[in-house]
Amino acid sequence: MQFRLPFSEDHLIDLPPAGAIRERTPTDLPRDAAGTTTATTRVPRDASRPRDSARSSSVCLEADGSAFVVHFVRMRRARRYILRVRPDGALRVTIPRGGSRGEALRFAQRHLSWATRERVRLQAARRAPSEWTVGMEIPLDGVPTRIVRDDDIVRVGAVAVRVGPEVRNLRPALEHGVREAAKRLLPPQLLALAATHGLAVTRVTIRNQRSRWGSCSRDGRIALNFRLLQMPPAVREYILLHELMHLRHPDHSRRFWRAVEAVCPDFRQAERWLKRSGHDLF
Ligand SMILES: [Zn+2]
Repeated sequence: MQFRLPFSEDHLIDLPPAGAIRERTPTDLPRDAAGTTTATTRVPRDASRPRDSARSSSVCLEADGSAFVVHFVRMRRARRYILRVRPDGALRVTIPRGGSRGEALRFAQRHLSWATRERVRLQAARRAPSEWTVGMEIPLDGVPTRIVRDDDIVRVGAVAVRVGPEVRNLRPALEHGVREAAKRLLPPQLLALAATHGLAVTRVTIRNQRSRWGSCSRDGRIALNFRLLQMPPAVREYILLHELMHLRHPDHSRRFWRAVEAVCPDFRQAERWLKRSGHDLF
């Protein structure tokens, strides 16, 4: 369910989530007998909090010598406070409708020991990228493809780059080549799909993102990870359609997922691939 993580401005396809902690016993949200948040009783707002600046504000927390930058994100649809450790080690606290920044901060403070453990776990799990050498196979279009060398030209599939004879790890050069290929191939594919569905994209950029496959801004700019070129074509197309459907629904609402399913009926299979194999591309 990694796509259901709360996001605010950009709508991101994340790698499998690092982990999140949700408030189980909300202290300031009234609940009805069924355990769902009632919208009728409003929580008094924290007077010190300016409503609109909360999204970008951050503070620093310290616990046992380790410091955390804490970012606050206000989500009208969120039902409870949610704490996540971001890939960069900072904390992200989602503030639900009617919640306050002060309560979000106390929530984060209460779970700092969890956050400390989680951050250590994440750092341990982050492997150094493996080296790519001649004779190895790397995935292109989801197919293991052998790296071959011919003098100072190194090839993998249709990607060819010039590499000096002293260079052993071919990964930086080849990834640059894959990224250049992605710049040629992904924008036309995205724009063709946009045209098919009557959608307008204002800008496409190809990036080397470490923790997301794509993103879509409210003004129609779509960013794509060059590693899409390494995935099976069906998974790649799902990501393109996922971002395009954000032009209709800038959220991960049920309506959004219905729109995704309408244009990409096999999207769950693609999600499973991303969850199982997405990390192998890094
Ligand atoms: Zn999304």
